[in-house]
Amino acid sequence: MKQSEPLIGVIGAGIGGLAAAAALRARGFNVRIFEQAQKFARVGAGIQMTPNPMKVLRALGVEPELRRISFEPVSGLNRDYDSGAVTNELPLRTAIEARYGAPYLCAHRADLHMAIKNVVPDEVISFGRKLAGIDQGPSSVTLTFADGATEQVDALIAADGVHSIVRDAMLGKEEPRFTGRVAYRTTFPASLLGDKQIAPSRTKWWGPDRHIVIYYVTANRDEVYFVTSQPEDAGWMTPESWSTKGDVKALREAFSAFHPEVRHVLDSCPEVYKWALLARDPLPRWSEGRVVLLGDACHPMPPYMAQGAAMALEDAIVLARCLDGVEPEGFAAAFRRYEANRKPRASQIQQNSGKNTWMQHNTNPDWVYGYDAVTAPLTDSTVDPAVKIAS
Ligand code: FAD
Repeated sequence: MKQSEPLIGVIGAGIGGLAAAAALRARGFNVRIFEQAQKFARVGAGIQMTPNPMKVLRALGVEPELRRISFEPVSGLNRDYDSGAVTNELPLRTAIEARYGAPYLCAHRADLHMAIKNVVPDEVISFGRKLAGIDQGPSSVTLTFADGATEQVDALIAADGVHSIVRDAMLGKEEPRFTGRVAYRTTFPASLLGDKQIAPSRTKWWGPDRHIVIYYVTANRDEVYFVTSQPEDAGWMTPESWSTKGDVKALREAFSAFHPEVRHVLDSCPEVYKWALLARDPLPRWSEGRVVLLGDACHPMPPYMAQGAAMALEDAIVLARCLDGVEPEGFAAAFRRYEANRKPRASQIQQNSGKNTWMQHNTNPDWVYGYDAVTAPLTDSTVDPAVKIAS
């Protein structure tokens, strides 16, 4: 049943959907999230929160909890894969906070997710609701779920991730390109490293055709995370999925030429998961009438700049700012304004991520880390400006 107060539906209780709901509720909107999962799973992955998304998390009231639970690295360290020579080091902690006004934290992905979930009341989220289709009328959107049930909302935010069915409904089935590469990742107890613990930095080890990123994900350094990228012949058979297992022996073999510190981490880890790395171009548009895309649904990117979730968080706050004070008749225009404000930046980062050169050598990260989605002036234009790709 449609309610008398305008209702904004959100598909997906991931990082982007939860953040959008929190930001909209703070502006007085009535929001409901529909999530396909029956409950949240603790996916074994780390996540870097650079100063730009940290400002969004601050605005949502998540920052104190994230500071309490996260690891704060000494530096962003980039090292040569076999010699271990430092090719670039970005000081973090007080240095980065002085530079950008927010910290750089490394967290367990599930802990970040839970910290955002905790600022959204339980009754806002409906689990076990898998969207199957949408039908847009002149003043509402009808949602049909996999079990045949329907709901009506005044506007829809599709934060349904990399396999977004709303994007497919809007733009046709997408055909991403397999990059020939796979990301292996896992978290495991730091105690398994024994006396040889990792450096207190976020370290990326750069090989000629592969790399590995390693860091702690908890404040008390009791859990370690790594994520790789490497060529893999049969990788095209791997899905983009958080639950697909990888072969830890094959992983160790693939990094056998790496520095002993890396090999020690790989030798200590009990199991791994893998995720196919696919490439996608920026979409022609992000909204259609009262339906709008957010996060990975509209700009999925390889994880090489650690900015995918950051962009979803920036999207969430800018979308809420564009909707602030807007009546339902203005939702479609507000969505186009959001797209006009977000697409140039998200597309630029999406395309730069694919190059996998970020921070390897001396790099000025101001344009990425210095952006503040909470206060950045917004253009009133609803026209998508030409997307310029800079390095
Ligand atoms: P998701 O987190 O994928 O959430 C989508 C939600 O929608 C899910 O809960 C899903 O169950 C739900 N859903 C999907 N379909 C339906 C449906 N039909 N009906 C109802 N619900 C549905 N980003 C960073 O900023 N920093 C990092 O360090 C970083 N590291 C990464 C490492 C790896 C290996 C990978 C793969 C990604 C990494 N990212 C990182 C990117 C980041 O994980 C994503 O960009 C981010 O999770 C996107 O959030 P989202 O809310 O758009 O989508």
